[in-house]
Amino acid sequence: MKYPIRNGVILVGVLLVGLGLYSSWNVEKRLPPLDYTAFLAQLSAGEIKRVEIIGGKINAVDKYDQEFQTFSPDIQWLLPRLEEKNVTIRARPQPKNFGFFESTLPLVLVLGAWLYWSRKSRQADTGLKGKASLVPQDVAGKVTFADVAGIDEAKAELMETVEFLRDSTRYTRLGGRIPKGVLLQGPPGTGKTLLAKAIAGEAGVPFFSLSGSDFVEMYVGVGASRVRALFEEAKKNSPCIIFIDEIDAVGRSRGGGGPGHGGADEREQTLNALLVEMDGFQSDETVIIVGATNRPDVLDPALRRPGRFDRQVTILPPDVKGRAMILAVHGRNIKMADDVTMDMVASTTPGFTGADLANLMNEAALMAARKDKERVELVDIEEAKDKILMGAERKGMVIRDEEKKVTAYHEAGHALVAMLLPEADPVHKITIIPRGRAMGVTQQVPLDDRHSYSREYLMDRIKILLGGRTAEEIVFNRFTTGASNDLQVTTEIATRMVCEWGMSPIVGPRAYVDADEGFLGGRQQRTAYSESTGQLIDAEINKIIEDCLQETMILLQGKEQFLHNLARHLLVKETMNGDEVEKVMKESG
Ligand code: ADP
Ligand code: ZN
Repeated sequence: MKYPIRNGVILVGVLLVGLGLYSSWNVEKRLPPLDYTAFLAQLSAGEIKRVEIIGGKINAVDKYDQEFQTFSPDIQWLLPRLEEKNVTIRARPQPKNFGFFESTLPLVLVLGAWLYWSRKSRQADTGLKGKASLVPQDVAGKVTFADVAGIDEAKAELMETVEFLRDSTRYTRLGGRIPKGVLLQGPPGTGKTLLAKAIAGEAGVPFFSLSGSDFVEMYVGVGASRVRALFEEAKKNSPCIIFIDEIDAVGRSRGGGGPGHGGADEREQTLNALLVEMDGFQSDETVIIVGATNRPDVLDPALRRPGRFDRQVTILPPDVKGRAMILAVHGRNIKMADDVTMDMVASTTPGFTGADLANLMNEAALMAARKDKERVELVDIEEAKDKILMGAERKGMVIRDEEKKVTAYHEAGHALVAMLLPEADPVHKITIIPRGRAMGVTQQVPLDDRHSYSREYLMDRIKILLGGRTAEEIVFNRFTTGASNDLQVTTEIATRMVCEWGMSPIVGPRAYVDADEGFLGGRQQRTAYSESTGQLIDAEINKIIEDCLQETMILLQGKEQFLHNLARHLLVKETMNGDEVEKVMKESG
């Protein structure tokens, strides 16, 4: 509410001045003309001191006291921008010999348009209220790290931030600068907001919060001034935390913005205001900005620059152990039947996030209460789970048993091939916890930093990549879409073997790609070649992949017992490290 009122005072003032001057000032000044574009450039550089608006004409004075005249096609668009740059605005109607009504008509229109605008921005303002409140939340002692379970690595990383907030001078004593921004990235419901609040709670500092998505709907200019106001308030409350949820809504990389009503423009202004504010801290102000996003991939790289969000913490949905710990936190105040253990519940809730688990415990308690029970029993939890699963299926977050099984075999297939091939890097970790768009992950860690790759090594990589899909084929005799990324990488390696590294005896030592792309430079551009060479290249790429596929099939079929055992272990444990995989291999003979 604060801003529209201030704008109102200014605008009514402007209108009064305009009216007052109208009758007395009919002589037009003649000033040197300037392009509107040049004027805008000066404006955004902050070089315009004051303007006088006469209809669409603008007499402007810059900081060197140069006067000139320009014409704006859209004063309504310009006004908030002038305000933003603190330009003194005077306005008067078109100086022509109109009758009274005719001459007031433009003014009435301007007034009407302005009223409309101010109402709109006020609406936007109320929409924002509560979420981007200028009043901090007091979370001290109310939310602490004890409320956040199952994500110990993230907590350990953020403990440092708590220390900074508690006692900044201890760290700045030797001239170091406190990091300003922490980016929490992870799927919805994994506890990012909770974690941010816990940081403030642990450190005993105020917690300001706002959500990026609120800005997108707003009238241009409001988001930016809201950001400035928030930082102003936060600095007064230093040390403190500013939490920006869904920061991707504001910080989407420039040019990559979607369509929509004033969206891109507003976003850019808001983002710029945010960057300016982050860059502008004094060293005695300990304001730490915690941003949260589930789309780190779309963020503007400018946000990650040193001095901005240079600390990044990734939070993933919890594994079975993590889930048990989260359930314990949310089951603290719930009366459970003696035969229910959190481990039992955890093992049947793969893919549940912290938010899902909190919801599960709550639903179960309500179910049991509805049936007038004294304690929550396993059946209540099962029933609550069904309810959540049915609802959650649309979101595609929670994995069904069948899917989990396919994923287990898929990942086991990758790992098994990797274990059986002498050239391959050792398996470091397998998980069937979904991560990003992948249903599961098999990680290998190279023994040493390799700089060049042999043909055998690359063939082995392809076989490992094909292992997931081949295992699915052996066990279920069908394919899922889960292997699409594997196939993409497979094709890329085979293509580069032929076109870039001269590893095909038929095509020979020739490079059919542009040379200036680096090894990890992403998509290659094939250089020109004849149609027959093209056919040769395609045939060679196919041959490499076909050969690898056959060998993979033979490898896996020879070790089916190992495959079943590994998948079974994965279904229970969800995450396994290299040693555990090796143990299963030894047991399987
Ligand atoms: P996000 O901000 O990542 O979308 P939230 O922090 O809003 O997720 O999580 C919503 C709720 O889910 C929290 O208030 C809390 O009750 C519960 N929750 C999520 N993660 C955890 C966790 N790791 N430990 C305990 N509770 C959690
Ligand atoms: Zn795979």
